[in-house]
Amino acid sequence: MADETIFSKIIRKEIPADIIYQDELVTAFNDINPQAPTHILIVPNILIPTVNDTNKEHEQALGRMITVAAKLAKQQDIAEDGYRLIINCNKHGGQEVYHIHMHLLGGKPLGPMLTR
Ligand code: 5GP
Repeated sequence: MADETIFSKIIRKEIPADIIYQDELVTAFNDINPQAPTHILIVPNILIPTVNDTNKEHEQALGRMITVAAKLAKQQDIAEDGYRLIINCNKHGGQEVYHIHMHLLGGKPLGPMLTR
């Protein structure tokens, strides 16, 4: 069993966070250090450390992360202009919190996907 991160405590509402959506599979909350006007993290309620740890049983929660991203993008009024979804994996991907999460970023032009 992988070690829990701060995200498990946020999901269980044991520590404060700006939770904007929660259902039986996923939770979404504002990033504490936003990199764009909209910066939301969408996480599965169960602990999956990285994309490398996903399996078929996780597909419902992982799929829900996308449909919730689309719903929240509409709510935030950034759907039409567009936005970016990012999942970092491990060291080279720049992952800092080892509870899989999708960044929903938008509200301004985001520039090139990678620094050149
Ligand atoms: P990663 O680099 O792992 O893809 O992204 C981790 C993200 O989690 C970062 O954008 C960071 O600002 C955010 N984060 C880390 N700790 C907390 C926290 O305690 N609360 C919230 N809301 N976001 C956090």
